[in-house]
Amino acid sequence: MANVKTRLGDTELVSLDAGRFPYDGGAMFGGVPKVIWGNLTPVDEFNRIILTLSPLLIRSGSRSIVVDVGYGSRHTEKDLKIWGFDPAITVVTALAAEGLRPSDIDTVILTHLHADHAAGSTSDGENGVEPAFPNARYIANEVEWEAANNPDARSAAAYRPDDFVPLERAGLLDFVGDSHDVGDGVSVGRTGGHTAGHMAVYVDTGARKAVYPADLVPTRHHVRVPYIAGVDLFPLEVIESKKKMLTQAAAEDWVVILDHDVAGNIGRIVQDGKGRFAFRDAEA
Ligand SMILES: [Zn+2]
Repeated sequence: MANVKTRLGDTELVSLDAGRFPYDGGAMFGGVPKVIWGNLTPVDEFNRIILTLSPLLIRSGSRSIVVDVGYGSRHTEKDLKIWGFDPAITVVTALAAEGLRPSDIDTVILTHLHADHAAGSTSDGENGVEPAFPNARYIANEVEWEAANNPDARSAAAYRPDDFVPLERAGLLDFVGDSHDVGDGVSVGRTGGHTAGHMAVYVDTGARKAVYPADLVPTRHHVRVPYIAGVDLFPLEVIESKKKMLTQAAAEDWVVILDHDVAGNIGRIVQDGKGRFAFRDAEA
């Protein structure tokens, strides 16, 4: 695997290869029967499918913004066994392939605080847990922060506060509400659905728009409105937010960058006469 990039005017968008991991197919496809989803993507003997860890790098003018940071480098042996990813591949190795060091990143946007999106925010240093991006401001949603620090029984295993609480102590976190302008054409908007405080990231160069829906639309298969992951906390909110986003994305031909799709992460959305959405890969 490798990073994949596209351009939006003067802005470069890079889908970063921060690794891949096997994940329970039923958890990913929720109420969709296996006889259907089992034909969409390869399945292993444990009923798992492969997901990518694909943070987004946005380079615009002097800005280098990273959206989500994968699992990072703080793992126990048990973590590695459960999650089954290669610890040698991280957002940091993916950025190095773009000629960037962690210290070059000025902004880290966390769409939500689940470990596969936020654990790479910090790394182990000489003085304990340190920010992995020492010169960055980190942006997180205030609703998500509350939920991640006081998780319900269902969400507790998905959050690792040890990875993100040090950011707050270091004064590096900026908490945002329903929407926030990050500057240079980049903004965030709360979608809810996957988690209450889940956010999508938008890029608008004036000529064309792009969106990183994160776990609102984790793979191309999830553009189908009723395809809702079993792990989504608010399924009806997923439907509303997804419909609204994809209707606009199809009408205005947005670039869409997916966070977990093993078949390819950059494309666009089309809508047929019956209103159904489909994902089309960007031309190489
Ligand atoms: Zn998630």
